[in-house]
Amino acid sequence: MTGKENVIAAESQYVLQTYKRPPFVLERGEGMTLFDSEGRAYLDWVSGIAVNALGYRDAEITRAAQSALDAGIIHLSNLYHSEAHTTVARLLCEHSFADKVFFCNSGAEANEGAIKFARRVSHNNDQPEKHELLCFSGAFHGRTTGALALTPREAYQAPFRPLLPGVATAQFNDIESARAAIGPQTAAVIVEPLQGEGGIHPADPAFLKALRTFCDEQDALLIFDEIQCGLGRTGTLWAYESFGVEPDIMTLAKPLAGGLPMGAILLRDSVARHIQAGDHGSTFAGGLLVARVAEAVLERIRQPAFLNHVREVGTYLGDRLAEINLPCVVAQRGSGFLQGLELDIAAAPIVDACYEQGHIITTAGANILRFVPPLIAERSQVDSLIEALTGVLQGATQND
Ligand SMILES: *Cc1c(COP(=O)(O)O)cnc(C)c1O
Repeated sequence: MTGKENVIAAESQYVLQTYKRPPFVLERGEGMTLFDSEGRAYLDWVSGIAVNALGYRDAEITRAAQSALDAGIIHLSNLYHSEAHTTVARLLCEHSFADKVFFCNSGAEANEGAIKFARRVSHNNDQPEKHELLCFSGAFHGRTTGALALTPREAYQAPFRPLLPGVATAQFNDIESARAAIGPQTAAVIVEPLQGEGGIHPADPAFLKALRTFCDEQDALLIFDEIQCGLGRTGTLWAYESFGVEPDIMTLAKPLAGGLPMGAILLRDSVARHIQAGDHGSTFAGGLLVARVAEAVLERIRQPAFLNHVREVGTYLGDRLAEINLPCVVAQRGSGFLQGLELDIAAAPIVDACYEQGHIITTAGANILRFVPPLIAERSQVDSLIEALTGVLQGATQND
């Protein structure tokens, strides 16, 4: 089956239509660039939603994947010892607050595991009533029923109730709201240091510090969801580094294995010592192929020169977005290569018009544009984006 019309028609016939897709078919990638079936090139400011951190056709990722294929093993069960996942776990622990790692396959799955681990601690301490989970307005923690319960957005939750019980919600960046919500019933508090899907809203440092204090006072666990903002995206290896606050548990996924599905739950020993053999599991997690690629990704991203590049060009992207001086632009927010531009007009038509200009961008909510490119994006590519986007926004303002 070839030809873009055939692909699009068959997709709408056979693939469950949970996504609205633009009218082109992507086939090939190289660095920051994707090519469609008609040979058109697009600069990719989405990277599979913060997944393809090293861009496309990266030589080290290819080599790492090839090393697993050469060994003849794609999957190795968690029933057996394996060097590859051990190396990734060691790297994650040596370069973070964590002492132990549990691997899984996606972001939602990482948060599901974090929920279970938090409740496990309470049960171990003979406090089963200490089971409540606290999340915040604007949060996004995933689409499975537990993670969805922690994602307080009516449109996402309403058709699927009842969800996981024992969840409370407080106002993001509102210290008093958090103080009132965290009590002896609280098992864990989960927060994104920089909210992604919710509209690119950074946490206030004082807010995260207050959460740490309240959790310590109430013996609750603090969970950072760095699935989107972690692993170099904000210009430090972990987003939490710039806040001076450390969690007890951290969840990772999106970029961890360079585009292969991999999630991870990072734990302090104080949590890990409560988890026993048989408490949790995953068939696919940490297999040889994903682990080899994750090792290559981690070794690259953790290099100071690589993180410097993200800080420098990411800040440049933020500055150039902030300079777009048009009446439809309300605000620019973000850090490193996780940037948002809030508009007072609908964002979706702007995204469509950018496709026409050879730039793939996405939204984070109805009127916020989101920019989460491969971390290898260069200044000249930022310039090209800003020129195209400014033209598109000018056009949209005139059409109003
Ligand atoms: C994407 C995302 C998730 C969910 O990850 P999936 O791999 O889609 O399940 C959870 N939390 C945050 C912050 C995310 O950005």
